[in-house]
Amino acid sequence: MALMDTTSRVHLLTVPDLVIQSSWKGSAIVSVPLNIFIDDLSADQSRRWSPLHAVQMQIAGLSLEEKRKSANTHFISASDKVGILDQMVPICSAVHMFDASMMRPVLVISHISSIIADYQMMSYVCNHSGPSAKKFCPKCMADKTDPIKKWEMRTPQSTRRLIERMGLMQHPKQMQTDTGIKAYKNTLWDYLNPHRDTPIGLLHFMYLGLAKHLIQYCYENLTSEKKQMLALHLESIDQSQFEYKVTAQSMFKYRDSRQGKDFKLYLQLASFNFGYVRAEQKHIQALTKLALVSRHMQNMTGNISEEVTAYLNFIKENIPALARKSKAHLGVHLEDDIEFHGHPLHYIEDQFEKNHRTIRTGIQHQNGHAKSRDTASQFAKYEVISHLATGGYMKHGILLEKTSSLKEKVYLFRNSWDSQLRLMKTSVKGTHYGPWLGSKTENQS
Ligand SMILES: [Zn+2]
Repeated sequence: MALMDTTSRVHLLTVPDLVIQSSWKGSAIVSVPLNIFIDDLSADQSRRWSPLHAVQMQIAGLSLEEKRKSANTHFISASDKVGILDQMVPICSAVHMFDASMMRPVLVISHISSIIADYQMMSYVCNHSGPSAKKFCPKCMADKTDPIKKWEMRTPQSTRRLIERMGLMQHPKQMQTDTGIKAYKNTLWDYLNPHRDTPIGLLHFMYLGLAKHLIQYCYENLTSEKKQMLALHLESIDQSQFEYKVTAQSMFKYRDSRQGKDFKLYLQLASFNFGYVRAEQKHIQALTKLALVSRHMQNMTGNISEEVTAYLNFIKENIPALARKSKAHLGVHLEDDIEFHGHPLHYIEDQFEKNHRTIRTGIQHQNGHAKSRDTASQFAKYEVISHLATGGYMKHGILLEKTSSLKEKVYLFRNSWDSQLRLMKTSVKGTHYGPWLGSKTENQS
């Protein structure tokens, strides 16, 4: 495991580093900070919406490079009957596990660093009624009178008090409308501050929010003749350096069903495209500003929270219809999110969304009688197969390999809990199995 400090230096940590100097009933206690992703995914082939509530996780301290790998994104649970909040209960509490590097049982306490979610789910974990509520923000008390402003922040104390009061009321509807808070059981309040620890997901905020709204708005304000010219110009642009070609048909005709990555790619071309057809100057300016914010975001340069605020003020001034969107308001909380949770790329939804495809594909091969059980056992089988494929050992990850390429050595940890833990060095290049390689583990694997 690797943790990054504020200067972006990577520290390699081993399980013994993470062990709190105490044990519980003979089990060492390991504390692991996690990023949890929650979302509903469509589990039905037909158009009927029968969602599967799924929970996935990543270790919060991994480097960006590691976080982008599917191997470091783990499926935890999925159910069509048990709600997300109930599925979170065992994750918040301690779990008994066996640690292969220490060869002994451990008690894993998962400290939830952040919850990664779209607007609906973000509201759900905050006991909030959602983006259509009068007080539409799950983080502050904002309403539509001035949406591009950080209003009085919601706190766990104030929200819990409201939930308690609503629980005692016969008709809590009015209070729900006034505050945007909805009363239902939510264990998360005992473990974290959902208002603060649910940062804005870049994919939903930036690409399916700001970019989507702006591109759609600019397109819809063109004459039909200009729309045709726009499509022709887009088709003629050389996109050979892109991952894939953004076509006019997909971008304009089916613009409602485009994914975040389509808007991310098109945003790079949009100001040239709209500039060619002489769209309104302020529209082109907004597209250019947003493209620059996106670029800085992806390259981790510039002061992105200031740039987002400047963009929001620009659209408030020039395209007020877009500034009134609930998603746009979330940008005012970007600064706080960065302060508490780091750069937004560290908790972007991309990798988790990709995993949804794996879950969905698996469901197609099931009889559909017990989706959650079959999905869970399928993922368990994947884990067993990869465990066997690596010779019965758990992989230590590329970070150790990287260290080895620098020093041409791999650090291996051989440990036995009773004797002292000691660091061993070996020059076996490319070996990235655990310290237990060749030890008594072999008999047990
Ligand atoms: Zn707010």
